[in-house]
Amino acid sequence: MEKIYDVAIIGAGPAGLTAALYCARAGLDCVIIEKSAVGGLAVTTSDIENYPGFKHIDGFSLCYQMMEQCQSLNVPFVFDEALSLENGKDVKTLLLSQDKTLLCKKVILTSGATPRKLGVDGEGEFIGRGVSYCATCDGNFFKGKTVAVIGGGNTAVEDALYLEKLAAKVYLVHRRNALRADKILGERLASSAVIPIWDSVVAKISGSDKVSEMTLKNVKTDTLTDVSVDGVFVAIGQSPNSQVFEGLNCDASGYVLTDEEMHTNIDGVYCAGDVRSKSLRQIVTACADGAIAAAAIAREIL
Ligand code: NAP
Repeated sequence: MEKIYDVAIIGAGPAGLTAALYCARAGLDCVIIEKSAVGGLAVTTSDIENYPGFKHIDGFSLCYQMMEQCQSLNVPFVFDEALSLENGKDVKTLLLSQDKTLLCKKVILTSGATPRKLGVDGEGEFIGRGVSYCATCDGNFFKGKTVAVIGGGNTAVEDALYLEKLAAKVYLVHRRNALRADKILGERLASSAVIPIWDSVVAKISGSDKVSEMTLKNVKTDTLTDVSVDGVFVAIGQSPNSQVFEGLNCDASGYVLTDEEMHTNIDGVYCAGDVRSKSLRQIVTACADGAIAAAAIAREIL
């Protein structure tokens, strides 16, 4: 007979890893399903300064330690994609790739978010040839070169400051003249060598075999300007990966709605982390969500 897990956790970012930690320690038989790499978007952060207990830690190291903590409790990792859910009353069936299935009593969806695309000419064509969504992954390829980071949030400013250490010249292109990023990051940006370009959006990315130029449009004057760059790092926010199951209630931006114990509208399905509708998306809040969901399940089924 096929094994029935108490809990299947979909996504091995900080929310999923913390949910697994709390499930395992509560005596729940849980499994993590991950379709790509452990750590989710958090591993793309070069320097985390607001996860309590660490003055500085990079996202990869933090997530690696979370993974090791789960492994020390014998949590199994299944590297596969959860495609759909058949929501039985006592037992749920997750359909994975190649018609494989996984049975469980409860599901915690911790599928995170995916970097948003600019949607301009040249962006898709030059992915991996100058267009990147991850400064920590690809920054090294741009040592001594000229790059632009697009966006005005925490990710964009952190990426620009990270790239400043590698590249010869870094532009930060933002569609407004005020940052969305935390004040402390804005102050660091102001005292860095990063060159801000305000009130501007990317109209086009061009080159021959790789990126050599971006065309910017000033949103106040509609003026178009060509700027020579070797790399364009897009950091304009994320879209929630909430399409895993049909029927989940989401907010207007597609983030999954839950109650305070992370219950979704689907019986036995919980949601935690960046994919959840909430006011603060941080590693620490993702971890907290995961812990709350696991504790709620433990109360319900043990
Ligand atoms: P974000 O906070 O949503 O910021 C996205 C930025 O991109 C905004 O400045 C936005 O402009 C701009 N933008 C959005 N769509 C655009 C478009 N089509 N064209 C040009 N610009 C566009 O996203 P994020 O920086 O990735 O951060 C996501 C979440 O993770 C946030 O909650 C953030 O606080 C958190 N985070 C935290 C840390 C940290 O605490 N260390 C680090 C990274 C991320 P507007 O400002 O005009 O809307």
